[in-house]
Amino acid sequence: MKPVVRFAPSPTGNIHIGNARTALMNWVYARKSGGSFILRFDDTDRERSKAEYADQIEKDLHWLGIEPDRVDRQSARIDIHQAATDRLKEAGLLYPCYETPEELEKQRKRLAMRGKPPVYDRSALKLTDAERAQLEAEGRRPHWRFLLPNHDGDPFTTKRTVREWDDLVRGHQAIDLASMSDPVLIREDGSWLYTLPSVADDIDMGVTHIIRGDDHVTNTGAQIAIFEALGATAPQFGHHNLLTSASGEGLSKRLGSLSIRSLAADGYEPMAVASLALLIGTSGAVEPMPDMPSLIERFDISSVTKSAAKFDISELDGLNARLVHDLEYSQIASRLEAAGIGGGEAFWNAVRGNVSRVEEAGFWWEKVERAEPVISGEDRDFIAVARELLPDGDPDASTWGEWTSALKQATGRKGRGLFMPLRKALTGEEHGPELGALLPFIGRERMLARLS
Ligand code: GLU
Repeated sequence: MKPVVRFAPSPTGNIHIGNARTALMNWVYARKSGGSFILRFDDTDRERSKAEYADQIEKDLHWLGIEPDRVDRQSARIDIHQAATDRLKEAGLLYPCYETPEELEKQRKRLAMRGKPPVYDRSALKLTDAERAQLEAEGRRPHWRFLLPNHDGDPFTTKRTVREWDDLVRGHQAIDLASMSDPVLIREDGSWLYTLPSVADDIDMGVTHIIRGDDHVTNTGAQIAIFEALGATAPQFGHHNLLTSASGEGLSKRLGSLSIRSLAADGYEPMAVASLALLIGTSGAVEPMPDMPSLIERFDISSVTKSAAKFDISELDGLNARLVHDLEYSQIASRLEAAGIGGGEAFWNAVRGNVSRVEEAGFWWEKVERAEPVISGEDRDFIAVARELLPDGDPDASTWGEWTSALKQATGRKGRGLFMPLRKALTGEEHGPELGALLPFIGRERMLARLS
């Protein structure tokens, strides 16, 4: 059976590099195994889900090189969720609870004081029909919990009930269903939390592998029980480590600067972002892969480590620079043109080693066209000689060599004392691309003007 994976973001904000990591893990898994990749928007939270975010997520995935085989959204699949809900209710596995958040908080505190884990005591199961009717008459609306199969018929006497799986990343995992509260599947307002629709959709869509962040490990124990309650076998799971910020905090959709959208707008190469998002936090080296097939070839899900990985934007700068230095003109000609950068292939070859983002070539193009010469007092005479000795005609590939050897002979200067005054006079900068390669773009007229 061909694997079917899904990336299931909630469209409640822009996705960041950590979400891209999950998407890429699924994508690479599908592509390596000849399987298919579903983009499923988990948009059961009607208030916070926005169509604009969903559209942007599709664009972001496309930018990263991910092309889903199918796109779907949970809000269009309510019949499936309802059928699953009915099935659980009929089986007596979904029960109404009326506690307010404050009452639940009090219960948790009481348990904590007695040194007990904060597990819901199922007291709602004890309510009689009359008591329920009374609560509803008072205006209370129920939320619904899934009765975890952690007992032998008497839900008030739980016993250790382990759900185990062989995790694609973390190896053998075991969660004791007696250590957790019955999960709430339906809110007071009747809307579903993520847990049940996700399982119902995974079953209906034939998902074979669920690859997601390790913040879902405990969830998985409960979800395996829901798969079983719905008569299905749970898929295989893989829980990858999460990315944190450089200071160790979790990434959040509110951290706008790390959104894929803003990284794209800042001129990073998609393959630099994708390589880092996927290869960070693995036992292998983090290197920029030139294209998606190489990244797919390179990545192995079993190399993902268990501990969280720190994401540092400076690492992205470094990877991006390495990719950019290797970019051929033909790959980026239209981008240079769109950014108003002239000089064609020769100019790109002259500057690419000095830029860490493609559009930064514009800085040097600007310097070619307009530079504020910097000539210090002690270099005045030297620059005057340099102007005299500039070889005739339009500068070409041999101009720099001829010019500087003539200058060396005439002035006795060499090394930095020879090159730096010329660089500062011609570009206004102390560092930059090899000067000889820039001369043909600056041209004779402008050179003479800057040397006076
Ligand atoms: N919408 C969930 C999330 O973003 C999906 C988790 C899952 O992959 O099951 O965390």
